[in-house]
Amino acid sequence: MIVGCGFGGLTLAKKLSKLKVEVILIDKNNYHTFQPLLYQVATGGLEAENIVHPIRKIFRKHKNVIFRMAEVISVIDSENKVQTNIGDIPYDYLVLAMGSTNNYFNFEPVRDKLFPLKSLTDALNLRSIIMQNLERSLVIENAGDQEETVNVAIIGGGPAGLEMAGAIAEMKKFVLPLDFPELDLSRMHIVLFEASRRLLSVMSENASEHAFRYLKNMGVTIKLSTLVKSYDGNRLMLEDGETFRTETVIWTAGVKAIKITGLDQENYLPNGRLRIDEYNKLKNKQNVFAIGDAAARIDDDHPGGLPMLAPVAIQQAEQLAINIRLLLAGKPLIPFAYKNKGVMATIGRKRAVADFHGWEFQGWFAWLVWMFIHIMSLIGFKNKILTFVEWSGSYFNYDKPLGIIIPPFKKSD
Ligand SMILES: Cc1cc2nc3c(=O)[nH]c(=O)nc-3n(C[C@H](O)[C@H](O)[C@H](O)COP(=O)(O)OP(=O)(O)OC[C@H]3O[C@@H](n4cnc5c(N)ncnc54)[C@H](O)[C@@H]3O)c2cc1C
Repeated sequence: MIVGCGFGGLTLAKKLSKLKVEVILIDKNNYHTFQPLLYQVATGGLEAENIVHPIRKIFRKHKNVIFRMAEVISVIDSENKVQTNIGDIPYDYLVLAMGSTNNYFNFEPVRDKLFPLKSLTDALNLRSIIMQNLERSLVIENAGDQEETVNVAIIGGGPAGLEMAGAIAEMKKFVLPLDFPELDLSRMHIVLFEASRRLLSVMSENASEHAFRYLKNMGVTIKLSTLVKSYDGNRLMLEDGETFRTETVIWTAGVKAIKITGLDQENYLPNGRLRIDEYNKLKNKQNVFAIGDAAARIDDDHPGGLPMLAPVAIQQAEQLAINIRLLLAGKPLIPFAYKNKGVMATIGRKRAVADFHGWEFQGWFAWLVWMFIHIMSLIGFKNKILTFVEWSGSYFNYDKPLGIIIPPFKKSD
């Protein structure tokens, strides 16, 4: 049984589908989401169906993969079964690959006023609210109130925050003047807040500096070493007493593992990730494994576990598929070793930064590499072609449609 059809769960299910085993794949959604491109859906660059893929369609030809759309609530490992919202389901071997969710830290009490970017629903809600605010701003006469309606704050200077900031800045520069000619765009401010002293702290100093310059040139205000303190739905309060008026606060500042209860306390780390050994197995369990964002193997080189990245989940899944085959054959397992192939982030439609094993490069070439990798990683030939056509078009012509307002999402009061 595999819980979660994200990068890890999907890779594992595909590999296991080639063995003589029955695979029960469970996900709360009936589709796989390509999370790195959520920001494109949120800003109208791609449609939802370009970055999600129906799970049943993926496994049409694999009769030994049984899919159930269900939310797993807890594990009853003494009885080898999981509790779900559609009833209990038994397993022989269990792999937990539920991924991660937002960590709001001190913003937990006001989480309903923020816009996270973790799921397809989040991306569509964000797109909907940005569009609604732009439409509404046209009938607001007071300059301060209008600014508050169209201003955007992005909290978190990691890859997701930068990608969002870049896409919104391009929207402001190239599309809004055409679609909203009556709007005074000097009233729209895009501000990126980062608590640490630099952007992209997971990447090199070089990448951080380039990313900073690219964003600044695109008109984004970047506030480094800036702690956000609270938010009342209209005003973002900073620790130094400053405030920023905005109705749209995009939260990309932290993630934590999705917790499924029922396992022993020693299996959980404080951030909810499951403590695994070098075989991705949970301590004191013979048949329970975990991979991807949900799992962490703590060692001297990685005191916090491996980073929450798609290649980590994919590589762990590939190794676990081999190990499950060995396990069934009664042979010794092979320990997992992560091969870090590099980290990238894109800023707008012509710039990216890349760190590949001491080879640091930026700009247009990095963006080409970024585009190629992302297109090749999408699932389905149609999605690859459609995305390539869409991006090629917008490379030469910035006039992308912003998207229509579906669903008419409302922020909580
Ligand atoms: C906006 C954004 C941008 C990112 N950009 C990059 C990037 O550029 N490069 C990179 O390497 N990584 C990036 N990441 C991180 C990457 O997406 C994750 O590390 C990766 O998705 C982890 O894979 P996973 O298989 O562990 O979990 P996920 O891919 O998150 O999949 C988990 C699955 O489990 C399902 N699930 C969750 N809870 C339950 C439950 N209780 N019951 C049943 N099903 C459940 C979910 O529906 C989901 O399908 C980004 C993430 C985000 C949010």
